[in-house]
Amino acid sequence: MAVLLVTNDDGVHAPGLAALAEALAELGEVWVVAPEREQSACGHALTLHRPLRAQPAGERRFAVNGTPSDCVNMAVLGFLPERPVLVASGINHGSNLGDDVTYSGTVSAAMEGTLLGVPSIAVSLAEGGDLADAARVARLIATRVLVGGLPPKTLLNVNVPPTAPAGIRFTRLGHRVYSGKVVEQVDPRGRTHYWIGGGAPTWEALESTDMGAVHEGHVAVTPLHLDLTNHRALAAMHEWSPALTAQLRGERGTASRRRPPKA
Ligand code: MN
Repeated sequence: MAVLLVTNDDGVHAPGLAALAEALAELGEVWVVAPEREQSACGHALTLHRPLRAQPAGERRFAVNGTPSDCVNMAVLGFLPERPVLVASGINHGSNLGDDVTYSGTVSAAMEGTLLGVPSIAVSLAEGGDLADAARVARLIATRVLVGGLPPKTLLNVNVPPTAPAGIRFTRLGHRVYSGKVVEQVDPRGRTHYWIGGGAPTWEALESTDMGAVHEGHVAVTPLHLDLTNHRALAAMHEWSPALTAQLRGERGTASRRRPPKA
């Protein structure tokens, strides 16, 4: 029976993790390797400067003193009895939409799986949504991915709306508008401190975005590509190279003659 890896960023005791593991149980042998504590908004952090330990927390279930990326790395590169055919991360408590995917530990776990060459999905449920809905969606998407595979370096970021899903849409990432400022306050000892992430998020251009789909009560499935290269920019910037190289060489020559560089 094929091995499936389930992880999350809300921690090994989160109800969303149990719901995801249960939803995928009929698709293979599910192994849960998840952070022992909540790691939300930890991004793609890896623990390299202290040992990781996996405490048994049930049958084929382990709690790791690390991040979601640690869990996936450790599990795929040797901890599991065999290489998993799928990494599923979630079900996160709260959406991971648009620009916020860059902070998300849930999505980062799927990124890590993708970088290791395993088809990976991240599943998040909007605040107030029903875990049973999200679990059903997760099983459908996971089944589709197991049958059809995913393009290279591509993961699926799945967001389930707070109401019974009206359908499944394939979307692009929305863009968050930063209305909130950094809040500056003074503590009782007269020292200044700052809070980020204060204001309520607003979004622009909802059309065909993940945010728009969830807003209209649909599941949003966004394929994310891990080649962060901007290929169009790269093509345009090739012509910068000769002039910059000439300037670099010119400056080197100038420096050796101890003259200040030209403005
Ligand atoms: Mn979380």
